[in-house]
Amino acid sequence: MNVLIIGSGAREHAIALKLSQSEYCEQIFVAPGNAGTEMFGTDACIDIHNFEELGKFAADFNVMMIVVGQENSLVAGIHDYFQQSEYLKHILVIGPKKAGAMLEGSKGFCKAFLQKYNIPTARYQAFTEETYLDAVEYLRNHSYPAVIKADGLAAGKGVIIAPTFEEAIDTLDDMLHNKRFGNASSKVVIEEYLDGIEVSVFILTDGKEYVLLPEAKDYKRIGEGDSGLNTGGMGAVSPVPFVDDLFMQKVKSQVIEPTLQGLQAEAIDYSGFLFIGLMNVNGDPYVIEYNVRLGDPETEAILPRIKSDLFELFRALHEHKLGEFKLEIDPRTATTVFLVSGGYPEGFEKGKEITGIENVDPDTLVFHAGTKIVNGKLVNNGGRVIAVTALGETMDEALAKANAAAEAITWQDRYYRHDIGFDLKNVGV
Ligand code: ATP
Repeated sequence: MNVLIIGSGAREHAIALKLSQSEYCEQIFVAPGNAGTEMFGTDACIDIHNFEELGKFAADFNVMMIVVGQENSLVAGIHDYFQQSEYLKHILVIGPKKAGAMLEGSKGFCKAFLQKYNIPTARYQAFTEETYLDAVEYLRNHSYPAVIKADGLAAGKGVIIAPTFEEAIDTLDDMLHNKRFGNASSKVVIEEYLDGIEVSVFILTDGKEYVLLPEAKDYKRIGEGDSGLNTGGMGAVSPVPFVDDLFMQKVKSQVIEPTLQGLQAEAIDYSGFLFIGLMNVNGDPYVIEYNVRLGDPETEAILPRIKSDLFELFRALHEHKLGEFKLEIDPRTATTVFLVSGGYPEGFEKGKEITGIENVDPDTLVFHAGTKIVNGKLVNNGGRVIAVTALGETMDEALAKANAAAEAITWQDRYYRHDIGFDLKNVGV
């Protein structure tokens, strides 16, 4: 069967690699892909925002399954488009339709859903420009720090943690009046700050049954010791030492099951991955966000731990047999370290030659993100450039291998965090 993967990051490279190991996958196309995804398939140079073009490509190349890596296409309704077309509706799309994608596409919708179905989350209220004065009043009586979020998608930059009332007002003005995130911040969510440790939990679900995938912890800040600006993600670790059976039981009964019941009650026909961003507050899970696709860099840490055939897992989703699917998981620890261009997440230079990949231990996985081949040379072509993942019997072993690989691969001004996973070393083990 031919498969089309939508996206161009290390996440899509990891999905392509995993699917390429399945005997059921014939050709793998990645649109638009990167220099790494080409190793497992064919990069398709098409505009992924143009569904007509995507549909034509899928029909021309006999694609039977589409795996949507990133959220924008889902929120824009890629699944609905394929389902509504007489010629394309036989194609299995992995990812929810527009209605389900709202869980990620609107923070206001997500928070209202969480509250309606009694799923633990931070207390909140949503405001627009019309209710600006109510927002000011709400902030006056709020505890600090306060969390202010742009309602729509803002590529991970739409969440501000304001330490004081004055800074909260500045943020509010910036979002509602100055439209800092365009339409995405014409509505804001103000919520209580949760003090705890974050963990990402992933399921694949048909809206009724689900398979629990390995959990992961990601590292969002650019600087060591979790300092500096937020990024798309600088590294990840899976499994997460503090996620024990008791915590996972609470996640299932207090979060996953009510979420699926809520989707059914709202008549939202959900099908695909659901990524639940949680805060562990003194052993209790609180939902920070839902994402309607896998995470990046978490995917690079969790997929290498899945021993089962990913294609068969997708088939079980399609046939509504997830309840009986036994996912085989490698008990070892996977650690992922992201190599980024110097200057990222702000300005950086592109086009620098990348060397050293051939010196990496063959057991370590190298996933491309912002890479490109120019005149036969591999160069950086984005902020996040390459993710390396290593597996080890212990976290120390996995980290030593991943850091060695990160050190071996280089280009002018490349940067990576040397402290991924360090905070977990003495937690809950
Ligand atoms: P965007 O919409 O810009 O893509 P996002 O979807 O990544 O952003 P969230 O996941 O809701 O936004 O928040 C980003 C980060 O902000 C979280 O990973 C967490 O570290 C922090 N955060 C969000 N809400 C809270 C909260 N209530 N308490 C403490 N920290 C929070």
